[in-house]
Amino acid sequence: MSIYKTNLASDSLFCVTIEARLLNYLVFRESREQWYVEGFDSIFYYEVGRHKLYMLPIPNILTKKMLIEKISRKLARAVPLKSLKMSNDQPLVSFTFDDFPKTARTNGSAILQDQGYVGTFYGCAGLLGKIHDGTRIAETKDIKILSENGHEIGCHSYAHLNCQKASKEHLQQDLSRNASTLSNIAEQSITSFAYPFGKMSIRTRRIVAGHYTSARTTVPGINHDRVCLHSLKSHQVYGSMFNSVFFEKVIAQAISTNGWLIFHTHDVSTSPSAFGCTIDQFTQLVQLVRNAGINEVHTMKSAVEFIT
Ligand SMILES: [Zn+2]
Repeated sequence: MSIYKTNLASDSLFCVTIEARLLNYLVFRESREQWYVEGFDSIFYYEVGRHKLYMLPIPNILTKKMLIEKISRKLARAVPLKSLKMSNDQPLVSFTFDDFPKTARTNGSAILQDQGYVGTFYGCAGLLGKIHDGTRIAETKDIKILSENGHEIGCHSYAHLNCQKASKEHLQQDLSRNASTLSNIAEQSITSFAYPFGKMSIRTRRIVAGHYTSARTTVPGINHDRVCLHSLKSHQVYGSMFNSVFFEKVIAQAISTNGWLIFHTHDVSTSPSAFGCTIDQFTQLVQLVRNAGINEVHTMKSAVEFIT
C-alpha cells in the first residue's frame, strides 16, 4: 500500500488516495486533537515523512466543525421556528423538483399535467441553462412554460448556496437576487424555498423565513398535526433507491394521519442522475398517489393555503 497523493495543508482534513485499494480516506495529523469519530470499526495508521497520519474510511469521520454543523442542522429540524396547527380536512401531496433540470420541465411537468396536477419547481437563477452536477439545468423559456401551465416557481437560492455556511449578508443578497430574477421571468411571486443540499440551521431558517412563506428540507417524513412551515419534511424520489412498496406505505401514512406528503427529485429522464428518477418511476409514483384516492395535489404555495 502506498500513498501517492497527499495534501498536507493547514486544514485538519487531508484527502489521500490509497493506491493499492483505490479508496479515498480522510486523514488526520496526529497532533490535531479536535476531531471526532463515530462508529468506525477499523483504523489505519501510516507515516508520511515526519507526519504521523491516521486514516479512516470517510463515512465514519466527523471533524469538530462537521459535528457542530450536524448538530446545528438537527437542532433546526427539531426546534420549530413557529409551530402551526394544520387545519386541512383531507390529506394532500406536493411534487417538487430542485435545481431544476431541463427534464424536470419536459418530462416531470408533463407527467403531472397528464393527471391534471401541478408541481413546484425550485430554481437557481444563476444556474439557468448551465450544466450542474452533470445535468442540464432548465432555461428561461422553461420557467415561462411552467408558469403558463400553472406550476409554481420556487427559490433554491441564486447560486445553489450552502445556506448553513453563508453569512447573513451573503444569504440575504442571494435570496433577493434569485427571487427578483425568477419572479420577473415567471411573472409570479416567489414564496416557497427549498434548502440547497438540505443544509440549514436555526440562524439560516430565520433569514429564509424573512423572505419566504415556506421552506422545504430533505428530511424524510410526513407533515401532520403541528408543522413548522420553514422545516417541511419531504421524501426523496431517487431512481437507484426507488421502491414502490415504500411509497405506497408513506402514501397510506399520509392518508391515515391526514398529513401533507411532499416528494422531491431533480431530473426525470431515461438515464437520470443519482438525484433524479426515470420517466417510468415518476409516472408510477404519480399513479400511486392517484390510485390511493388522494384528491388534493398542490403546489407548495397552494398547499400552505390549504393547511392554514
Ligand atoms: Zn439543489
